[in-house]
Amino acid sequence: MKKNKSKKRILITGGAGFIGSNLVKVLIEQGHEVIVMDNLYSSTKRNLQNYFRMWNFEFIRHDVNLPFTIEVDEIYHLACPASPIYYQKDPVFTIKTSFYGALNVLDNAKRTGARVLLASTSEVYGNPAIHPQTEQYWGNVNPIGVRSCYDEGKRAAETLFSDYHREYGVDIRIARIFNTYGPGMCENDGRVVSNFIMQGLQGNPLTIYGEGQHTRSFCYVDDLVKGLIGLMAYPEYPGPVNLGNPSEISVKDLALKITQLIGLSIQMKMMPLPSDDPARRKPDISLANQLLGWCPDISIEEGLERTIRYFRETFS
Ligand code: NAD
Ligand code: UDP
Repeated sequence: MKKNKSKKRILITGGAGFIGSNLVKVLIEQGHEVIVMDNLYSSTKRNLQNYFRMWNFEFIRHDVNLPFTIEVDEIYHLACPASPIYYQKDPVFTIKTSFYGALNVLDNAKRTGARVLLASTSEVYGNPAIHPQTEQYWGNVNPIGVRSCYDEGKRAAETLFSDYHREYGVDIRIARIFNTYGPGMCENDGRVVSNFIMQGLQGNPLTIYGEGQHTRSFCYVDDLVKGLIGLMAYPEYPGPVNLGNPSEISVKDLALKITQLIGLSIQMKMMPLPSDDPARRKPDISLANQLLGWCPDISIEEGLERTIRYFRETFS
């Protein structure tokens, strides 16, 4: 029987996590064969519960810091602790995962000829001195701070990807992902959207770090997944490419929006600002738009409504 070339065998490292499980959903719906590799460091199998009985889904419990060989057409490399609470819990594990995980994934891609996409991050820009951030900007990262295990880890992963591309011709894609939210987020990983929604639903005050004037630009996960799949499919461009929603909002305004959507009057608890917390962040997505025709469709109100519904149904 001839192999249907439009249906691929795809490995997603970190596929049990928030973004990974949303990517699994779309790739399974498209009829691909999907293999998730995850050690469940910052996730559980809950996000994958709908897929275990499917013929085109497979789960492998494995730490990407250890070598592996799997014949696949494409690899989305997402495995890495990603929220400040998880990546600062064991910083040495975080930087090891960023580096050795990337190395093992790249060696597998080199052996098998798979195309491989790195889930990098806007954190490579650090506390940015230019605004909005373009891919040409080299960043402003503290190499010895509490966020460095993640920021510098991802920068090293980008370097390794670029060198495997230049030296061995590995077919790479680098996506620089900006703050993303949506169903499938972990309820206790300390990120601002999940914290505020859980606090609101439980009737607790929302914890605002610093004055709440810091900004982020939040992308709904369905939009991000479209961008990742588009970048993987785009021929011949290694990246990096920014993927995120350019509408910028302060943390305080986000708190107000979430409490309004939940139907509460706002209560806030002011707390100290963590060190090295970037003051502003907003992607310039001209490149993604020009190359992939990609831009986010889902407004923050619509995305937050869907996310609040998910948290209500799943955790209360
Ligand atoms: P997540 O914590 O929900 O998912 C990460 C997954 O990787 C988890 O399932 C975890 O168990 C797994 N993992 C961690 N270390 C591993 C290891 N050594 N071996 C195997 N599996 C391991 O986080 P997420 O938000 O889904 O992030 C996914 C990727 O996207 C990460 O690489 C992250 O750096 C990147 N990213 C996310 C955001 C965001 O806003 N969510 C922003 C920028 C970049
Ligand atoms: N933040 C906050 N209260 C919280 C959690 C986070 O004020 O309960 C702030 C945090 O200081 C940062 C922003 O919200 O300025 C986004 O934090 P998050 O951890 O979600 O993402 P990151 O800092 O990694 O972009």
